[in-house]
Amino acid sequence: MSSPAAAQLSLDLPVPGRVLAIGAHPDDVEFGCGATLAKWAAAGSDIALLVLTDGSKGSWDPDTDIDELVHVRRAEQRSAADALGIDAVHFLEAVDGELDHDPKMRERVCEVIRAIRPNTVLGHDPWKRYRLHPDHFHAGQLTIDGVVAARDPHFFPGAGSAHRPDRLLLFEAEVIDHVEDVSPSLDAKIAALFAHRSQWRSTMGIEPDSPEADAQASEFVRRVRDEAATAGALAGLALGEAFKLLTDL
Ligand SMILES: [Zn+2]
Repeated sequence: MSSPAAAQLSLDLPVPGRVLAIGAHPDDVEFGCGATLAKWAAAGSDIALLVLTDGSKGSWDPDTDIDELVHVRRAEQRSAADALGIDAVHFLEAVDGELDHDPKMRERVCEVIRAIRPNTVLGHDPWKRYRLHPDHFHAGQLTIDGVVAARDPHFFPGAGSAHRPDRLLLFEAEVIDHVEDVSPSLDAKIAALFAHRSQWRSTMGIEPDSPEADAQASEFVRRVRDEAATAGALAGLALGEAFKLLTDL
C-alpha cells in the first residue's frame, strides 16, 4: 500500500445511516473493514453484509464435504456478523473461485444496492496490484459496477428503483487516503474473525484442537493488531483501518 502524508488523509466519516459491505467470501468483510463496521453498528448505523460466493473452496482438506462446508461457512458468517453487531447478511452464492463481474452478477449486486439503499458502500479495491485471488478482484469490480448501475434508472430497470450512495470505501486499498479510528472496536473484529472457525487453519495459521492452538491464536491476534497499528499510525492513531475513499459517485 502507498502511505500518503497525514495531511492528505481524511479521518473518520460521520456515522452513516445505512451501510452495505460487500465481500467475495465469508470473512473478507471482517478482515477488510470489520472494526469500522462494529464501530458504526455500536453508534446506530443500519448495516448489511453481502457475501458474493458460497465459500466452497475454503478448505485444505481434499476429502471435505462441500455441501457441509458451504453450510458451515454461512453459519460462521452469521455468527461473525453477530460479533460485529450486525443482523442482516445476504448471500449471492456464486461458486467460490469462479466469480466474474459479468452482467448477470452485476444486475444482482445492483438489485441488492437498490433494495438496501445504503449511504455508504464498502468493498474490495479492484485496482489492488499483485493480488492473487481472482474473486477479490471480481468482487471489487462488481462493487464498482453495481454502484454505477444502481444509480442510473436505465441500468437494469427490472432490478428496483435507482439509488445513488454518497460514499464508497475500498478496503485492501492500493492507495490509502482515509483512516477510521477503530481503537474501541478492534476486539469485535477479532471476535468476528474467530467466528470463522473453518478458516482457522488455512487463513489464520491456527491448527484447531492442537497443543499449539492457543499460541497460534495469540500470534494471529498480534498480526491483526499490528496491521491496525500500522494503519492507525498513518493518521496518528493507536489503531485504525485504512481505505481509499470515493465520494464522487
Ligand atoms: Zn476472500
